Amino acid sequence: MTVQDLFDKISAARHCTAFTGAGVSTLSGIPDFRGKDGLYASEQDAEKIFDIEYFKEDPSIYYKAAASFIYNLDEKKPSVVHLVLAELEKRGLLKAVITQNIDLLHEKAGSCRVIEIHGSPKYHYCLRCPDIRLPFQKAAALAQAGKLPICPQCERVLKPAITFFGESLPMNALKEAMGEAQNSDLMLVLGTSLTVNPAASLPLYPLRQGGEIVIVNNMPTPLDNMAIFRFDDLEKVFGDIEKIMLNGGVT
Ligand code: ZN
Repeated sequence: MTVQDLFDKISAARHCTAFTGAGVSTLSGIPDFRGKDGLYASEQDAEKIFDIEYFKEDPSIYYKAAASFIYNLDEKKPSVVHLVLAELEKRGLLKAVITQNIDLLHEKAGSCRVIEIHGSPKYHYCLRCPDIRLPFQKAAALAQAGKLPICPQCERVLKPAITFFGESLPMNALKEAMGEAQNSDLMLVLGTSLTVNPAASLPLYPLRQGGEIVIVNNMPTPLDNMAIFRFDDLEKVFGDIEKIMLNGGVT
C-alpha cells in the first residue's frame, strides 16, 4: 500500500474525517504534556497544571505554566499534518477534524470544521457567572504579561475551556464528534495511540457502519489490525500527500 493509494482512497471517500492526537502536535514541537513521558511529567507541578481542584485553589499554577506553551500560539508553526488536513478540507476532500489536542494549531493551519473533544483555550469562562467569555488572544496577552484574566462581575480568575482532570468532556463536542464518526466512510486516525476513552472508541463508529479507518501513529494501537492502511511516520506520509497534491494529483 502506498501513500498514492491512500490519497486515492481519500479522494474517493464520500465522507472522510480525521481524528488527531498528540502525535500531530509533537511535530510542531509541542510536548505531549498529558502523556506519561511528556515534558511536564517530570516536574512537580505536572498533574496540578490541568487539575480542576488545584485550579480552584490556585489558578496561577496553570497560567504561569501555560504562558509558555499554550498562550504562545504566535510562536508555534502548524506541522505538515495540520497544513495538509486544512488543504484537504479546502478541496472538499475532508469534512471535519476531530481532535484531542488543545493547542489551536488546526485552526491556525486553516481548518474550519474542528471539533475539540478535550476543549480548548479558545475562550475563558467564569466558574460562577454564566455569561462571561474572554477570547484566547486577550487571555494570552494577560498570561504572557504574568497577569490573570479576571471576571468583571465577581473577580474570580477565569478558566480556559480546556477539559481539566476532574472535569467531564464537553458534551456538545462529543456528540458532534460521534455524529461525524458515524457518518464517516473513511476516518484518518492520526498521532493517537487510542488508549484513552471515550475518544479511543471513536474509530469504532465508522467501522460499525461498514466504513474504513487508516491509522498513522509511531506507536501500536489496539485497532491496528482493523485499519486498511497502517503507517508509522506521520511527517513522511503527510509530506508525500502534500507532494501528490502539489503535482495536481487531484481530479
Ligand atoms: Zn464571575
